[in-house]
Amino acid sequence: MGDREANIAFAEKRLESCPQIKTFKRASIYETEPVGYTDQPDFLNTCVSFMTTLGPEELLDLTSSIENEAKRKRTIRWGPRTLDIDIIFYGDEVIDTPRLTIPHPRWKERAFVIVPAKELKELDVKVPEDGGVRLFRSRV
Ligand code: ADP
Ligand code: MG
Repeated sequence: MGDREANIAFAEKRLESCPQIKTFKRASIYETEPVGYTDQPDFLNTCVSFMTTLGPEELLDLTSSIENEAKRKRTIRWGPRTLDIDIIFYGDEVIDTPRLTIPHPRWKERAFVIVPAKELKELDVKVPEDGGVRLFRSRV
């Protein structure tokens, strides 16, 4: 919501400037119609990839704090806006704890994950036909 591209840029800048994160790559940004509650603005989606010395739980702590910062900032200055950062893969590790399920359980159903993720990583998975994602800003 709000300045959607700025919200994504904020999250990317926070990740990329983290000292434990290197070789940061960004995929193109895609616009997606909302599913479920259709009476809300379209979403912007993208994927990033990087090398990190942070463990998976530490990475979740970082992404959660970035989400909270964005929410706090938005609440004070421009009203409610949202940011959602999900960890889709962590190398080829399989993790299932109360806080963390990796690979993300629903990534194969979500064209808005698959399409940008395919720009960064070879994935042997088909994009769902009803995906409805359209390019918003190319970065590759
Ligand atoms: P969703 O992303 O499903 O729309 P939320 O972002 O509100 O919903 O979900 C938040 C919770 O999901 C977090 O508290 C986190 O512990 C949990 N979670 C489990 N697996 C993951 C993952 N792979 N990436 C991000 N959050 C995850
Ligand atoms: Mg989430």
